[in-house]
Amino acid sequence: MKVEKLTTKQLSIPYIDESKSDWTDQLGVQLYIKCDTDKVTGWGETLVGGGVVNSYRSVIENLIMKLISGETVQDVNVVTEKLEKSLFTAGLCGIANSAISGVDMALWDAHAKENAKPISDMIGGAKRGRIPVHATLPRYSSIDQLLIAVRNSINRGFTLIKLHQPPGMTIDSVREIRKKFGKEVGLAIDLNALYDVARGREFLRNIRRYEPEWVEEPLWPPNDYDSLGLLTKNTDVPIAVGENEYSVYGFKRIIEAGTSVIQPDISRVGGLRHFLEIIELAKSFKVNIAPHLGIHRSAISFAVTLQVAAARPEITTVEHCLATYPSDIFTGLGKAVNGEVDLPRGDGLGIQINENGFKGYKYHDRFRLLEFSDLQKPRGAA
Ligand SMILES: [Mg+2]
Repeated sequence: MKVEKLTTKQLSIPYIDESKSDWTDQLGVQLYIKCDTDKVTGWGETLVGGGVVNSYRSVIENLIMKLISGETVQDVNVVTEKLEKSLFTAGLCGIANSAISGVDMALWDAHAKENAKPISDMIGGAKRGRIPVHATLPRYSSIDQLLIAVRNSINRGFTLIKLHQPPGMTIDSVREIRKKFGKEVGLAIDLNALYDVARGREFLRNIRRYEPEWVEEPLWPPNDYDSLGLLTKNTDVPIAVGENEYSVYGFKRIIEAGTSVIQPDISRVGGLRHFLEIIELAKSFKVNIAPHLGIHRSAISFAVTLQVAAARPEITTVEHCLATYPSDIFTGLGKAVNGEVDLPRGDGLGIQINENGFKGYKYHDRFRLLEFSDLQKPRGAA
C-alpha cells in the first residue's frame, strides 16, 4: 500500500456517565493517528500519559511522518522496525514507543482494509466471536456515586469490574460493594503503583477476605522487579502488572517475578507484532493476559485489542470503559452481555470512525494531572 499522508488528531472526550466521577476532565486527552493511503483510511491511537500530548505529537510529526509519508509499505512490521531503529536512542519506552504503537495501529488498520479483511483475519483468523471484557471504573470519592456505577456496570452486562478508588478509601469501597452486591460482580483493584513491599503486604492481607480477581500495580516504582518478586512470594492474592511495561523483555521479568496476570497495552508496547510476542510469552508461562486500555471513552485501541483477542483466545479479558463510547464518533461496537461483547465485524479495526463527530470534542489545552494517590499530598499542598 502507498501511504499518502499521516496526520494526528487531538480531541478532548470528557468522561461523562450517570455517576459523577472525580476524573471527568482529566480523562479528556485523546491522540489519534490517521493514515491515508491511495485507497483507504486507517486509524490508530496513542495512550497519552501525564497529559503531555504535544510530546507524543512531536515524535510523530517531526520524525515518523517524514520517514513514512509517500512510502510504499509491503510489510507493516518492517516499517515499525525501521521506526524502532530510528528512535531507540530516545528510549524504546514511554513516549517514543507509544508514538510508534499508534502509527503501527493505523498502518495495520489501513493494510487490513486494503485487503478487505478485519485485523483478526490478518493474524490467523478469529477463533471466537465473543470476547470477555471487564468494566473499568474511574475514581469516585463518593461511595454513593461508586455504588451507582457498580449498579450500572451490572445493568450494562458486565460481570467483572475494576476499581480506581482513592487508596485511602479502597478497603471501605470494596467492603461496601460486597455488602450491597455480594458476589454478583467480580472485583479487581487497581492501586496504580502505590506502596512499598511492607505496605503492599499489609494491603493484601486486608483485601484478601474480599476475594479480589486481582490487585493491580501494588508497588512503586512499577518496574522494581525484585520487590515485586518479594510481594508475590508471600501472598495468594493474584497480582496484575504490565500497563507500564514497554518491551517483551520487561514482560518476561514481571512474569518471572511471580505476576499472575499481565496487562500489555497495544497503544504502548510498540505495535501489533510485539503485542503478539508478549501473548506467546505469557502462554508459555501459563499466566493470564488481561490487556490494559485507558479508562477514557475512546474505542480505537479497544477495537484493535478485540481483534487480537478474537484471534488469540489466550486473552482472558479485555478492559472496557464503563461509560458508553461516543456514538457520534464510533459505530459498530456491541453492548456487553454476560461479561462479553461481540467482535465488531467490519474490516480493519472492525468499527467505523466518523471524523465529523470530532467537531463535538474539540481539544482543550489545559493542565491535566491524573493524580492517583490520596495518601501523600505534594509538598506545600493544603
Ligand atoms: Mg491500571
